[in-house]
Amino acid sequence: MTNENVVADNKVVDIAYTLWVDDKVYDSSDASDPLKYLHGHNNIIPGLENAIVGMKIGEKKSVVVEPKDGYGEISDDEPISLDRSMFPAGFDLTVGNPLHLQDEDTEQIITAYIVDYDDNVVKVDLNHPLAGKTLAFDIEVIDLRDALPMELRHGHPHTGCSSCAGCGGGCY
Ligand code: ZN
Repeated sequence: MTNENVVADNKVVDIAYTLWVDDKVYDSSDASDPLKYLHGHNNIIPGLENAIVGMKIGEKKSVVVEPKDGYGEISDDEPISLDRSMFPAGFDLTVGNPLHLQDEDTEQIITAYIVDYDDNVVKVDLNHPLAGKTLAFDIEVIDLRDALPMELRHGHPHTGCSSCAGCGGGCY
């Protein structure tokens, strides 16, 4: 028997959170616009996911996540400079945004983060902006339900038709 009312694998969970980094608020999402994720499918960092297991709706918790359970340790890879012309006009070059690049040698898709750009060059770093950081979360479980079969197949929650474009339709 699984307990229906606590966070566990294959539950769609809504959480409100405040993320503190270096004693400053880095990001937050309140109860009216919670973060929705599918538990047990690597939607969120492991240190946070593990801390939420077993929580009930309305329960609050403060969680400290070390880099190894968060966004990893900082690697000493140098930032990579990409030709600005690789990017289509109007491309969102906001610093911190992730890009997916293909490694020329291994053909692996890697994620890099924009650190700087000018008219000619876009500089990206393979480190996540929060790599090496200890993360302090204040969290509250706002809602909780069983995932739908299609959500389990896709490995992420569906929140309505507007969220379906990226995964080829998941309306319910
Ligand atoms: Zn989907």
